[in-house]
Amino acid sequence: MRKLSILGSTGSIGKQTLEVARKAPSDFTVEALTCGSDIDTLFDQIKEFRPKVCSVVNEEKAVELEAKLKSAGIATEVLKGNEGNITVATLDCIDTVVGAIVGFAGLEPVYHGILGGKDIALANKETLVAGGDIIMPLIREKGVNMLPIDSEHSAIWQCLKGEKREDLDRILITASGGPFRGMSREQLENVTVEDALHHPTWNMGGKITIDSATMMNKGLEIIEAHHLYGIACSKIDVVVHPQSIIHSMIRLKDGSVLAQMGRPSMVLPIEVALYYPDRGPSIVTEFDPFAEGMSNLTFEPCDTEVFRLVKLAYETGDKGGLYPAVMNAANESAVMSYLAGKIRFLDIERTVFETVEKMDPIIRNASLTIETIEQTDRDARVYAGEIINRKINE
Ligand code: NDP
Ligand code: MG
Repeated sequence: MRKLSILGSTGSIGKQTLEVARKAPSDFTVEALTCGSDIDTLFDQIKEFRPKVCSVVNEEKAVELEAKLKSAGIATEVLKGNEGNITVATLDCIDTVVGAIVGFAGLEPVYHGILGGKDIALANKETLVAGGDIIMPLIREKGVNMLPIDSEHSAIWQCLKGEKREDLDRILITASGGPFRGMSREQLENVTVEDALHHPTWNMGGKITIDSATMMNKGLEIIEAHHLYGIACSKIDVVVHPQSIIHSMIRLKDGSVLAQMGRPSMVLPIEVALYYPDRGPSIVTEFDPFAEGMSNLTFEPCDTEVFRLVKLAYETGDKGGLYPAVMNAANESAVMSYLAGKIRFLDIERTVFETVEKMDPIIRNASLTIETIEQTDRDARVYAGEIINRKINE
């Protein structure tokens, strides 16, 4: 039985994790749940799962939730702020942290969870993009498991089972191509937030949906795979596969290519992570090779001249150090401004490129520690904020 602390339980991955836990109450206990501010959803989840502890980043909302739980006669303890997330990730009563917070905010609690000897089931890719060089050695030092949830990384992980790491030659990471696949730069200038939020195959939170539209998501995933599987970014190829049936492939040194397949659903990769090293029961729709569309699985290259953030991810991933943290922070700032309707679609890319360029002399020879990563994240957001303000006033 896994004893879970689910960080970001009110989000898309958090809810689907609870779906897995709900189906198998004898395999999981839900000991802790957290959110940013959505206490209505959190309240319903607490009512159903009765965790010992919960945490809310927004302190006013935490107080509100505490009162609501008290009047409902529910004894779940309420913690607040970032400290609350760290406490929840290190509780004695848990053995597994599900990292389903969106963005860099997920790094600190995951870091403390590892220090506390917990297994990490990780959806929150930004944690590895910004902090992979610290997180992965710590995973090995503490002897805990890193259980990938991101569907491509789950696919790669499953393909690698039973293979020797030195036999891995290349990773072929698949991408749906997002809602703007095949568009030109001119067309991208005028896309709306609504268009960008309309993903063809996956239903996800707002930030990752925009990252899929800019293809930054694939860039982040290249760096995520580099850290998880110890392979150079230059050995990871992006394969655009609009049907999202093959979730990724590996090529071994003898040329053999292994793939993992399934209908696009995050429930399965969550299940694969949480049942590791076993296999759980089948709770997703059965895979039908004769279903509509299945006879037409297609593959095409990613146009990195149109989706330039993919190219930048290869560059920052190869440079390593603090470069990916800068790219990630600038991207988060720009995506939030885009979602708020303040900047245009291609301004996301422009903001990220300019921030990386501006911070280059500062980070070029900087040391890499958890503190320098956190400081760099803050600094990059300031630079990105200035660029964004300039764009708003243009
Ligand atoms: P959502 O936006 O749906 O959910 C994010 C969760 O994090 C919510 O519970 C939210 O709380 C909480 N949260 C937001 N900001 C903070 C903060 N500053 N501190 C603490 N908690 C916070 O995101 P997704 O579930 O889509 O994505 C989560 C992560 O998983 C991302 O890193 C994403 O890239 C990754 N991922 C997601 C996939 C998907 O299918 N959705 C697929 C693969 C990876 P509240 O609800 O109160 O705002
Ligand atoms: Mg993915």
